[in-house]
Amino acid sequence: MGLTTKKIVGLNVQTLIKLLNQALADEWLAFYQYWVGARQVEGILRERVQKELQEHADDEYKHAIKLADRIMELDGTLILDPKDWFKLANCKFEAPVDSAIIPIVNQNLRGERCAIVTYNKILKLTDRKDPVTFHLALDIIKDEIDHENDLEMILEDLKKM
Ligand code: FE
Ligand code: FE
Ligand code: MG
Repeated sequence: MGLTTKKIVGLNVQTLIKLLNQALADEWLAFYQYWVGARQVEGILRERVQKELQEHADDEYKHAIKLADRIMELDGTLILDPKDWFKLANCKFEAPVDSAIIPIVNQNLRGERCAIVTYNKILKLTDRKDPVTFHLALDIIKDEIDHENDLEMILEDLKKM
C-alpha cells in the first residue's frame, strides 16, 4: 500500500514513521495534560483558562489524528500501547499536581515550546524531501505557536491584575 506515496518521499520512510510516532506520543500526552489541567485548574480567571486549555486539548487531539493519518498513508504502524507514549515522546508530561493557574499554564507552556522545537526539526528534515509531511508539520506548528502565545498572554494578563 502507498507505493507511490512512499516512493516520492526522499527520506528513509522508517525513520520518518518513527519521527511521526514520536510526535504522536507528544500529542497524546499534551492532550491529556491540557484535558486534565482544564478540569483541575482553580483560581482567578478560571473560566477563561479552562476554556483555553480545553481548546488546546481539542487541537492536540486533531494533531494526533493528522499524524496518525500520515503514518497510515506511509504504511506505518501506530503506537499501539499508551505505555510507549512515555518511551517515545520528545516532550515531558507534567501532571498538574498544583491546581493553581500559574503552575498549570507554565507546565503547558513548556510543553508548547518543546512541541515547536520538535515540529521545527520535522520541517527541516522534510523540507523539499517530503512536501506532504512538510505541510502537515507546518499546519501543526502554526497551532503550537498560537498555543504558546495564548498561554503567554494569560500569564501577562495575570501580572497586570
Ligand atoms: Fe499539538
Ligand atoms: Fe499545542
Ligand atoms: Mg488558544
